[in-house]
Formats: sequence, C-alpha cells, structure tokens
Amino acid sequence: MAHLLLVEDDELLRDGLQAQLRQAGHSLSLAEDGQLALEQLMQHCFDGLVLDLGLPKIDGLEVLRRLRVNQPALPVLILTARDGVEDRVAGLNAGADDYLTKPFSMDELLARLQALLRRSRLAPVGATTPAPSDTANSRLRRDDDLPRAWLDGEAIELTRREWVLLGLLMQPGGQVVSREAVIAAWQADEPGEAGANSNALEVYVHRLRRKLASAPIQVRNIRGLGYLLEWQSGSAPA
Ligand code: CA
Repeated sequence: MAHLLLVEDDELLRDGLQAQLRQAGHSLSLAEDGQLALEQLMQHCFDGLVLDLGLPKIDGLEVLRRLRVNQPALPVLILTARDGVEDRVAGLNAGADDYLTKPFSMDELLARLQALLRRSRLAPVGATTPAPSDTANSRLRRDDDLPRAWLDGEAIELTRREWVLLGLLMQPGGQVVSREAVIAAWQADEPGEAGANSNALEVYVHRLRRKLASAPIQVRNIRGLGYLLEWQSGSAPA
C-alpha cells in the first residue's frame, strides 16, 4: 500500500488506472496536466509517481526534470506511446525508473509498480551515505544537500521549502527567524517561482510541524517577530 500520484490527461485511462490502483490497495492523488502534477508534488509526499509523458501545459519530461531536482529518489514509472522510442530514452535519461508502453495490461502496470516500490523500500533514501548534520544535536539532523531531515536515524522527506525553512530555524544560536527572512530565502532558492509569500509560509510551517511531530522540538510562532525553534528540555543541542 502506497500513496501514489497518477498523472494522465486521458480521462478514460486515468479512471481505469485509478480504479485498478485503488483496488490493489494504493491511495491515489490525480493530476490531468503537468502543471497540476508539479503543484501536487510540491505540496505532498508521495511514495511513487505514475507519469504519462504526453501532457497538456507542461509535458511529462519537463515534470520529471523539475521533480528530479528536489526529489531524486521518488520512484517514477512513465507511460509512453507505442512508437515513442525517443520519449522513452529521454524519460529514462531524465530520471524515470521504469517505463510502460501504451497499451499495457493492468497486471503489468501493477507488477512494475510493485517492483519499483519494493526497490525503493529496500534501499531507503540516504542508505549509502551517512546522515550529514549541520547542528550538534544528535536526534534531529538536517541534510546539507538534499531536502530531508533525520530524526533518530530515520529519514524524513521534506519539500524544498520545508527544508529551507528548517535550515533557517536550525541555525546555531537559536534566533527568531523573521517571516521576511524565510520568504527571502525561498525566493533566493527558487528564482522566478511564484507563491513564496506569507500565506505559503503558514502552510509550510504547519506541514513542517506535522512532519517533525515526534521530534523533541517545537516551532513556536512569536507574534510579530517570526518563528523560533525550541528544544524540549534535555534535548537541546550541545
Ligand atoms: Ca497523454
């Protein structure tokens, strides 16, 4: 059972896939074009992605390229047209883990997907590299290079914005981080992207709190000033 994002603009195929994947026990989010897909990928954590390449607005290859900047490890199965050899090669080069050529059988889709998900679970993110740290705390660490954190050795996947936010909060010295500082850091990290604003900040703080709910910390809202990371007693960084 996995939480999947299914991106397919053909309504009939999307409905059919949705029914089969649900029946196989997966929970599903749907997107019918590339832009909606990228929005979903920014906002939610998925265990896997089934991505049609021929999509309106932003094509599947471009979705894949942008996705791979932030989420190199997300298992991705692409769906391509029968004669789309070039698409297939480009898809694999852009970071797809596997592909299916239309038309395909549902059994084959389920089998390929299961294999992908199993591989990704067998090789947990970061298994080959020790968890890096930019704080002295031994329980919660933040990866220096990739959008993730580590709580007691368990990886917590973060969105890029959550990761930038956590970086500011975990700066040595434990200062209050102003809302403007977070928004400026987001804008510097994603030039040209819209939506790095105050409303988004509240959403991302909320999500970060949820993801770090079992960590010995609290993200406090200091009215009029910003946010402060507070360590629970006995767990503060050395
Ligand atoms: Ca299509």
